[in-house]
Amino acid sequence: MRAVLIIGTILILFISTLSVRDAHAQETDPYQERMKLYKKVETITQIPWYYLAAIDQYERSVRLARRDLPKADGVIGIYFRPEVWAGLTNPNPNEENPAVIQFFNGLGVDGDGDGKASLKSDEDVLYAFAHYLLSYGVDPDNLKIGLWNYYHRDRTVGIIAGKAKIYRQLGRLDLDKRVFPVPLYSNHSYRSTWGDARGWGGRRIHEGTDIFANYGVPVRATAYGIVEMKGWNKFGGWRIGIRDINNTYHYFAHLSGFAKNLQVGQVVEPGMVIGGVGSTGYGPPGTSGKFPPHLHYGMYKDNGITEWSFDPYPHLAQWKRLERIELRKTKSSR
Ligand SMILES: [Zn+2]
Repeated sequence: MRAVLIIGTILILFISTLSVRDAHAQETDPYQERMKLYKKVETITQIPWYYLAAIDQYERSVRLARRDLPKADGVIGIYFRPEVWAGLTNPNPNEENPAVIQFFNGLGVDGDGDGKASLKSDEDVLYAFAHYLLSYGVDPDNLKIGLWNYYHRDRTVGIIAGKAKIYRQLGRLDLDKRVFPVPLYSNHSYRSTWGDARGWGGRRIHEGTDIFANYGVPVRATAYGIVEMKGWNKFGGWRIGIRDINNTYHYFAHLSGFAKNLQVGQVVEPGMVIGGVGSTGYGPPGTSGKFPPHLHYGMYKDNGITEWSFDPYPHLAQWKRLERIELRKTKSSR
């Protein structure tokens, strides 16, 4: 009897937390909340919203990829170490008094006007970063200088500038859609070959998944992103690199050629044709046919310090599943 009571109570508690969560999810769309904050800070500082969005998304992705940083609590992903916020020489690292923080040269400011500079306030955090950048200027060149002085890393500045271009061009934040790199109707096969001995990729271990398909089958961008690299490599042949908004780099190799007018710095959308399946590589530019045609697909993650490759296979399998479900939906709604 007692056990039943305890289980019953637990069940009721569980169900009530679920419904509270549901209600919360319905009233707050994080993308909307974020956009509201970016636009608000843009109005105050003249720093374009898409730059604020790019910095925020960069930092959010870095935090997700790193174990030494706490996960974000609010809708803004920017992270300040408490001592940087309060000022390095401030004896109180949890200082929230804006005047005292300013005295100790901390970066914390009061953005929401409640008299406190709080790391727990999304608005204070976003405004603090904007406030820091303001001392450099609000045009793209000066923003880049400000970002370089903050991060001291060219790749980070490049990634953020790329994201700013994506957000500016597309005008929205929900850019999580993914598709499989070749059309689902095409004849293709792939299996998990992560870490196998070197095949046709030119790296010590096989850093990617090979998708075998016929010569010329369209190769598609798998995510929203920006073309970071396009050209020839002795091993990879004709290849393309695309950076998505989560700091992940998608690498497509052995292509037969590139889509017309595709350019480095171009913003791409999932499903956009970027080239064709081929068998280029293992020789001077144009070498082809030394192995069966296939797409070598690699994924690399940047965590703000370094970049490493990870196994694309589980992601490919998931994108294919999701795309199939999506296709069925559009068919049945016709
Ligand atoms: Zn490969």
